[in-house]
Amino acid sequence: MNQTYPIQTGPVYRCPDCGAPAKSILSWWKITAPDNLLNPWGDHLGYLRTGCDDHTHRVVRLGVAVVPVVFPYDAGGQGTTEQCITIIHDALKRLAAEVGPTETDPITRIVYAVLTGELAPLKAVQEIHALSSAFTMSVREPVREEVER
Ligand SMILES: [Zn+2]
Repeated sequence: MNQTYPIQTGPVYRCPDCGAPAKSILSWWKITAPDNLLNPWGDHLGYLRTGCDDHTHRVVRLGVAVVPVVFPYDAGGQGTTEQCITIIHDALKRLAAEVGPTETDPITRIVYAVLTGELAPLKAVQEIHALSSAFTMSVREPVREEVER
């Protein structure tokens, strides 16, 4: 099963199968177990709570953008954690490329650029260090007082 669903950006999310409006997105953290191997990705996972009883859709989230994803074991097949992480990562890359950052925070833009492949990871680390050292300098720089003699 390799279905590609359209990206949704809300504010009303819909069941991609029947179009029923979703009441909410159920957070991954409401249903996961403490030892779930996908927990590092938990902030990017959720489930559309739609009015239709027949359709439950796991979604990958990035900001306001969501896209339904299907894991290999959803259809009764076999699947590994690595396959699921690849699916999550591919969905995040797609969301970052097609929606982009909705925030103007510079670190968010750097992370999105890494996801879309526009920025190499080491270059991103350098840019984040440059941002943090600029911030540190502005905080630590002593107030200069001109003293007239
Ligand atoms: Zn539905």
